[in-house]
Amino acid sequence: MIIGAGFAGCVLAERLAAGLDKRVLLVDKRPHIGGNAYDYHDEHGILIHKYGPHIFHTNSREVFNYLSRFTEWFPYQHRVRAWVDGRLVPIPINLDTINTLYGTSFNAFQLGEFYKSVAEPRAELKTSEDVILNQVGRELYEKFFRNYTRKQWGLDPSELDAAVTARVPTRTNRDDRYFTDAYQAMPLKGYTRMFERLLDHPNIKILLNTDYHEIEGSILYDEVICTGPIDEFFDYRFGKLPYRSLQFQWETLNTEQVQPVAVINYPNDNLYTRVTEFKHLTGQTHAKTTRVYEYPQAEGDPYYPIPRPENAALYKRYQELGAVTPGVHFVGRLGTYKYYNMDQVVAQALTTFSKIAGVRRADCVASS
Ligand code: FAD
Ligand code: UDP
Repeated sequence: MIIGAGFAGCVLAERLAAGLDKRVLLVDKRPHIGGNAYDYHDEHGILIHKYGPHIFHTNSREVFNYLSRFTEWFPYQHRVRAWVDGRLVPIPINLDTINTLYGTSFNAFQLGEFYKSVAEPRAELKTSEDVILNQVGRELYEKFFRNYTRKQWGLDPSELDAAVTARVPTRTNRDDRYFTDAYQAMPLKGYTRMFERLLDHPNIKILLNTDYHEIEGSILYDEVICTGPIDEFFDYRFGKLPYRSLQFQWETLNTEQVQPVAVINYPNDNLYTRVTEFKHLTGQTHAKTTRVYEYPQAEGDPYYPIPRPENAALYKRYQELGAVTPGVHFVGRLGTYKYYNMDQVVAQALTTFSKIAGVRRADCVASS
């Protein structure tokens, strides 16, 4: 039995069925497969991501090749602008960001010198505040990072692990892509179509609209793979792991395009963090356009594990309990309480499969 039909659950279902000829029951409490990467056509016919924008990028050839068995791709390089001091400027901060904001005409070398002159060097980069101050100093930290982070997480960057803001680099060149990974593309017909193909195997049965608690005890199974929250699996016996949630507000406009790029971040204005216009991501042609506004909140679906030391310590207790509980494996963003991107979850699921199958990691996608 696999709990959760997101990336983690679908990859493991496919591998166990096609690679090991196991019979798999895939259970999800939502009415659809795909987990947080689920997409569908809205009432206007525009392809949207129900749980916020999902951009696929990876440096792993293995992950890309594996998923390529189930989808073709639409090449897409992600670009984001931030609304700062009344202008739209590139984020990650780059040469054009600084020259636009400050009216300078630095070259890359001069910008490197400028960063050095404003940076507040830190001996150790422990928190998300340390990372940014160490790179670009306080003024740019306050313009781009402090308030966005407070909105997104309900915490000051000084209260979050360094890894959170370290996801966003600082550049001295004009590269305005959000990611620089070797593989950047979107599933040509959408994520849901790709998941349908992953699960298209006679050994895989899918049970939607079902919390696994409802069927526990009435279904016989050898092993469980849990990709839902690990604290919930153990009935919160050590207490609740905190997650950050989002509320989405949708808008469809009678115009082909409203934004210059897919995502606009609002670090200092509004209650929402960012606005996404989906047609940029999908390449869809349509007379109308749909956008989503993200409002972070404490309550709701568990979207983001919150990376900070006390949460890691609490997770470790659940992880240790999981390790001594026979017949259960924890995988995925919620199962292992990790702020993972989709490709990292796929890689983690393949590693879990290689352990279950007793094959080398390099061989785990070989049999189909
Ligand atoms: P999930 O997709 O969360 O799947 C877990 C499933 O378990 C869910 O479907 C849930 O319904 C089910 N479940 C939970 N409890 C139970 C239960 N009791 N019974 C039955 N089923 C249960 N990653 C990127 O690489 N690029 C991006 O641009 C990107 N953008 C993101 C934007 C947002 C707003 C969010 C929230 C995440 C984003 N991610 C992105 C991360 C990406 O969503 C995850 O890495 C990936 O979807 C995790 O897959 P998963 O299978 O681990 O978890
Ligand atoms: N961040 C920020 N300002 C930005 C973009 C990102 O402060 O304009 C910080 C914020 O804390 C955010 C983190 O960097 O949560 C990671 O950003 P990313 O875009 O990777 O977030 P995700 O897409 O996972 O929500």
